[in-house]
Amino acid sequence: MNLSTVEPPNLALFPTAMDQAYLNDMLTCRLAEAHQHVIRGAVAPTLDRGEFRRALAGFDFTSPRPLDDTLAWVIAQMEHGVTQVTHPRYLGLFNPAPTFPAQCADRIAAAFNPQLASATTSPAGVEIEAHVIRSVAERAGLPPGAAGHFTSGGAEANFTALLCALTRAEPHFASAGARAFAGPPVFYASSECHLAWLKIPHQAGIGRSAMRLVATDGSGRMSSDALADAVAADRAQGCVPVMIVATAGTTGAGLIDPLSCCAEIARRYGLWYHVDAAWGGALIASDRLRSLLAGIDQADSITIDAHKWFATTMGCGMFICADAAAPAAVFQASASFMPPSGPAADPYVMSVQWSRRLLGLRLFLSLAAAGWAGYGVHVERSIALAGLLRDSLAARGWRIANDPALAVVCAEPPPGSGEVRDVVGRVLASGRAWVSAARFEGREVVRACVTNGETMPEDVAEVADALQAACRTSSINQPWLDSLQTTESSPS
Ligand SMILES: *Cc1c(COP(=O)(O)O)cnc(C)c1O
Repeated sequence: MNLSTVEPPNLALFPTAMDQAYLNDMLTCRLAEAHQHVIRGAVAPTLDRGEFRRALAGFDFTSPRPLDDTLAWVIAQMEHGVTQVTHPRYLGLFNPAPTFPAQCADRIAAAFNPQLASATTSPAGVEIEAHVIRSVAERAGLPPGAAGHFTSGGAEANFTALLCALTRAEPHFASAGARAFAGPPVFYASSECHLAWLKIPHQAGIGRSAMRLVATDGSGRMSSDALADAVAADRAQGCVPVMIVATAGTTGAGLIDPLSCCAEIARRYGLWYHVDAAWGGALIASDRLRSLLAGIDQADSITIDAHKWFATTMGCGMFICADAAAPAAVFQASASFMPPSGPAADPYVMSVQWSRRLLGLRLFLSLAAAGWAGYGVHVERSIALAGLLRDSLAARGWRIANDPALAVVCAEPPPGSGEVRDVVGRVLASGRAWVSAARFEGREVVRACVTNGETMPEDVAEVADALQAACRTSSINQPWLDSLQTTESSPS
């Protein structure tokens, strides 16, 4: 073998230590500058996509470009090419301005790039994640044996819950799939549940018609009477109910389903009880407010997204399960190339993912830095700010449509303001704030949610002004408004 035939490492991909230090410093400075531009600029993107595509076409990857130039170019595009969730007047969907400790965690994970599939390869990473999950489970009031794992987000965690419920209800589901059931398996969530649920029965192979959307009681919460009736009716018709999903913090209006009633109905019929607290789960941090989640402790499983109200970087969901053996029954696998799984099962035999990134460090560092009490303040102040917005809009003649006990305000503009989506379109076009249009209990509303831990009362006052100004503008025909996003079609 001729050693001289092996090229040295590519310096563009693996720069020298000195070049890396320069680039790291440059990146840190540029990102800090960009943040200053972002908080002074428009909240909604102003990027022309056609023009941007033409610029991208210039990257044909034939000749290498200096990384520092490309980094600076990308950051400049991001400054006006995305909805600025780090802007203090982004009162948007549940996407947070990320905590600084979470951003540090991402840098550490990127540098070490640990493989979290197994504890043998990454004992420190796996133990950190398990520790955080246990702490969150304990804080939520689950029994001591509770376990779980980090997920790509709430959708994966909720999918995991359905697979656990199906496997618990019919162990032959593992080998025979939906055919194993005596009748069509079905499950229940409220009509205000997150739209991501609609895909989940399809993914699980039981078909979208397996999902029963239960009526709300007029306040946006699932009606427990309608739920009990639906379960009884399905059983009478030969369907096999497997799971009840209660939402703790609905996407549209931040409401909490009657958790204890849902738990009782699940117990009565022997169903898996899942609480989808992707956003609202952060209430467990507040000693004053955690009782709003009373009943969550009776769940078989819980979804909480750290990347929502816990404000870590995306995506960082958690699936927490009262019985650690349940996910093991779903995700068991053995592969000759993997280290044998020890008594404390490895993530790859407990979850959807195989190769996995170290995610839990984001919440570990944030919790370590702030403590539960610090997060409690974070949650309470967003609710207080939402209360300010509610009062300020109500004082200007808006009708508040929901009971905003959490940090979501749904409000109808005063009569004569025109279509809600036009009002929202004008706010976005003004660049002063970001809110969305939504439907709540059959009414068109402006939806605003405090998602940035640095939003101040003055920001809320400016959002209220921007909303009011958007009502006054006479309603001229502006077809371009149609291209602006509203909540109903946007992911959150
Ligand atoms: C955000 C959300 C989801 C979806 O979670 P992702 O993290 O976006 O995958 C599901 N349910 C609820 C209640 C949510 O708020």
